[in-house]
Amino acid sequence: MLSNFIQYFQKFTPFLLAGLMVACNEDYSSLSNETNGNAGAQSRKSSSSASSMKWSSNSLGSSGLKVYVSQDLIDEFQPVDYKDDLNPVQQMLSEWNNSLDEYTLFDIDSASDENALGSLQHVDLINYNDNILGIYKHEDWFEDVSNSALAITQFFGKRINIGTEYEYLELIHADIIINYKEFSFGISDKSIEQYDLSSVILHELGHFLGLGHSGYSDISVMVPYLDIEVEKRELFEYDLDVISDLYQRENQQALSSFSISSVTHKDSANKNSEIVQGIIELQSNGNCRHIIDGKLVHEHKKKPGHFRPGLH
Ligand SMILES: [Zn+2]
Repeated sequence: MLSNFIQYFQKFTPFLLAGLMVACNEDYSSLSNETNGNAGAQSRKSSSSASSMKWSSNSLGSSGLKVYVSQDLIDEFQPVDYKDDLNPVQQMLSEWNNSLDEYTLFDIDSASDENALGSLQHVDLINYNDNILGIYKHEDWFEDVSNSALAITQFFGKRINIGTEYEYLELIHADIIINYKEFSFGISDKSIEQYDLSSVILHELGHFLGLGHSGYSDISVMVPYLDIEVEKRELFEYDLDVISDLYQRENQQALSSFSISSVTHKDSANKNSEIVQGIIELQSNGNCRHIIDGKLVHEHKKKPGHFRPGLH
């Protein structure tokens, strides 16, 4: 039934009447219509309630989300990158798993080399919305995604408790796609021109689980940029707090660090507004960009004051 729903969704994506904005907390209120183009002119906010997004405990199951890795990405791994027989993706999945006592977030086995997915080089992002949660290498990148994005997480979710203060997005699909067209990545044996692939994956897995970006000056793997050579392969206290709040908190209280606001087009029918799609980019250059249904809805740039000494 879910797959039927997603097929329906794919078919009607151009007419989908809801969008999702993922906002950097420190600049949420300054959403600019200048970069919003037609979407801004034709849209209105249908709900201003801050909320969060997460997978249901049903989706997590007892063994966690099954995330698979494409063969062409696995081919990038060197023998020296493996630790305790875990490939680099599995190592980062474990890092998130270790953050919670109550739930297993990811099934480590599904991401093994043995379970590799066929490589996908879809031209359109929407085509990744299949029934497989995947982490992919992309060598041609996407027309409607910034070239300076190291990687993106695309997600789909269902709005729950619409219009109430307990509104949140229940995630139903997500994929991580890594930009091998514009960037070079390494793990254990990097050259100076390479980004740390493990750090990129750890960050994107945070989005995959429902986390937004931290503020620029927070000490977190969820800051909206990653500088070359920087390794962030372990979660910081900030990250542990946020994931714990999201999945272990009893009530669906809004997270102060993360806001979702739905945008509903004027001529929309409410019944079609329940599924939303979002893309979050991890930028190499420090710009924070959020894209909904192919349109840039939010952007702001890193300022010198956003840096903490010693972090970069
Ligand atoms: Zn990000």
